[in-house]
Amino acid sequence: MSPQPTPPQPDPAFRHELVLTGPPLHLRLPDVCANCGAHAATPLYWEKVVLVTDSEGSASRVVEGMRAPFCPHCRAAHEREVKRISPLLSLLQCFRSEVMIGAVLTGGAALFFGWKLLPDLNDDLWSVAAWVALVAFFGLIALGCVSAAWRATRWRTVPALTSITSSLQWRAETAGLFEGDRYRYTIRHPAFYDALLALNQDKVWKPTGARARRAAGWRKALYIVLGVAAVLVLFWEYFGEFLRREW
Ligand SMILES: [Zn+2]
Repeated sequence: MSPQPTPPQPDPAFRHELVLTGPPLHLRLPDVCANCGAHAATPLYWEKVVLVTDSEGSASRVVEGMRAPFCPHCRAAHEREVKRISPLLSLLQCFRSEVMIGAVLTGGAALFFGWKLLPDLNDDLWSVAAWVALVAFFGLIALGCVSAAWRATRWRTVPALTSITSSLQWRAETAGLFEGDRYRYTIRHPAFYDALLALNQDKVWKPTGARARRAAGWRKALYIVLGVAAVLVLFWEYFGEFLRREW
């Protein structure tokens, strides 16, 4: 096997952060490799698992996707490093969810009734329709259970980041009301940073920028409307009875 050419290495000291509004998959991408800064025309899609905690403190794992260009050298290095799970093993992960008990039971019921009642079917349209409805009823519940189990366990099938895909990290920032989603990107290569910034200038989040001021304006308007509504309700509570008696 011929030795693989080494891609140009980025400056290890360079790690730049950028906060951009909108989801990561909506970024405008430059023709620059996110890892080494070389020319790269085709974007690569990859995923990572994020631990999300809700307001009640319960945590769940969410799969988030990202798309960025990598040059052929970096792509090849990524393919060598990435450890994908086989489709069969991915499917078997579903059985780690207890919802699969429901899938096995209802799937079994669909097969049992389908097979058991098949000899009793005659040319009567209604008996055929009832047989189809019964099998479809249990079959659809089983499919719903498999789909729920697949969604609940899919994070287990997401491969770990490689040295290539870790060149572009992202995480959601906590946004205020009306501000929209925004993400903080940590970028390894200065050329990719400059090119991404140039293409997405309109998405750059500034705490004192037009978007933040607009959101603050909307929040203020909402609080005024809620305040006025609260005053009207209080007024009606205290004086409504009096007014009704007078008029
Ligand atoms: Zn590259």
